[in-house]
Amino acid sequence: MARINEHYKKLSAGYLFPEIGRRMAAFQKDNPGVKVHRLGIGNTTEPLTPAVVEGLKEAVEKLSKPETYTGYGDEQGEEELRLALARFYGSRSVKLDADEIFISDGAKADAANIQSIFGRDNRVAFQDPAYPVYVDSNVIAGRSGSFDGGSGTYAGFLYMTCVAENGFIPEPPQEKADLIYICSPNNPTGAVATREELQKFVDYARENKAVIIFDAAYSEYITDSSLPRSIYEVDGAEECAVEINSFSKFAGFTGVRLGWSVVPKALVVEDSEPGEVHKLWFRRQTTFFNGASNIAQQGGLAALTDAGLAESAGLIDYYMENAAVIREGLHQLGLTVYGGVNAPYLWLKAPGGLSSWDFFDKLLNETQVVGTPGSGFGPSGEGYFRLSAFGHREDIEAAVQSIVNNLKL
Ligand SMILES: *Cc1c(COP(=O)(O)O)cnc(C)c1O
Repeated sequence: MARINEHYKKLSAGYLFPEIGRRMAAFQKDNPGVKVHRLGIGNTTEPLTPAVVEGLKEAVEKLSKPETYTGYGDEQGEEELRLALARFYGSRSVKLDADEIFISDGAKADAANIQSIFGRDNRVAFQDPAYPVYVDSNVIAGRSGSFDGGSGTYAGFLYMTCVAENGFIPEPPQEKADLIYICSPNNPTGAVATREELQKFVDYARENKAVIIFDAAYSEYITDSSLPRSIYEVDGAEECAVEINSFSKFAGFTGVRLGWSVVPKALVVEDSEPGEVHKLWFRRQTTFFNGASNIAQQGGLAALTDAGLAESAGLIDYYMENAAVIREGLHQLGLTVYGGVNAPYLWLKAPGGLSSWDFFDKLLNETQVVGTPGSGFGPSGEGYFRLSAFGHREDIEAAVQSIVNNLKL
C-alpha cells in the first residue's frame, strides 16, 4: 500500500495568494469595470535587454544546425558560464573557483532543495517574515513539528523576528541553530544586512558549525556600495555559507529560468571534511537534475558581458525609480515605509494599528490598489504590508496617484 509523505499534511494552507485573488475577484464582482492597480506582484515586467535577446537567439541558431547542435550539457552548468560568474564575483573581490558554482533553473528550486543534503535532525532558523520556500521545504523534509495556528509558527523551528525595532535584520539566535536562512536584500521587508551584521552570523556559524543559506536574489538592487552583495564579502563565510542567486530579478529571467548556487569547497559541517558538502550537492544535482536549458545559459552568459551588465543595471534603475515614486507618494501621506532603496520591495507599517488584512481591504476599497499583506510571510509580518516596485511606470504612477488622492487616514 502506497502512502503519502505525511509531512505535507503539516503545511499551513498556502493561503496568501489565493486569498488575495479571492478578495480581488469579490471586489471586481461588486464593482464591475473599476480598474484595480496591482502593486503586489514579485514578478518582473520589463522586456529582456538587447544583449540577452541576442544571446538567446544565437543559442537557438546553434541548435538549428548539425555542426553546432548540442544536447545534454554538464549537469553543473556550462563551464563558460561558471567561469563568467567566477569573474563576476571576482569583480567584487570575492574569489571563487568555477567548480564551486552550480548552475540551476532558478533560485527557488535551489532554496527548496539545498536542505536535502543536511540531516533531518538539524535545528533550522528562519527570518520572520520570510520568503515561504525556506520554511515549507523544511516542513516537507520533516524537520518541524505541527503548525500552530495561534502563533503562526511550526514547533521545532527557530524564528528570528524582523521588526522595525531591529531594522528588520535579526541578531543570531540565542539558542543553537544548525541551518540558518538569510535573505538580503530581503523579500518581503526590503532590508539589507550590513557587513557587520552578516559578520555576526558568520562568526556564530563558525562557532556552532552551523551553515548559513544565503539568498542573494536581489543583490544587484543594492545601490549603497558599502553594503555586501555577496556573503563571501564577509571574512570566513566560505567555511560556513552557501549562496543562492538568480538571473530572475537581476536580468528579467523570471520566465526564461536560470540561477546558480555556490557551495564552497572550504564549507565544513559537524561530521565532514572540507569538500564533502560540496561533493554532496554535486551528487544531489547530478542525480536529481539534468542541467539548465542551454538556451537560457547562453542568455545568462550574454547578461554577464559588459554590455549585458550595463543593460541590466538600466533595468534595475528603472524598477528602483518605480520604488522611489512609491516611497514619495507614501511619504506625502505621512505613512511609515521601509525598504525600497536597495531592494525592489517597500514594507509599509499599516496605519492606525490596522492588521495586514484589514489594511489590504481598506487599500483595495478606497484606492483600488492591491498589495500583499505582511502577515502572509510569517507572524512578525502582522501589521505590515508589502508593495512591489515591479511594474510599468505608468501603472505604478496611476496606483500611487490613487493612493495619494483616495486613501482616508
Ligand atoms: C524571486 C525570488 C527568487 C528567485 O527565484 P527564481 O526561481 O530564480 O525565479 C529567489 N529568492 C527570493 C527571495 C525571491 O524573491
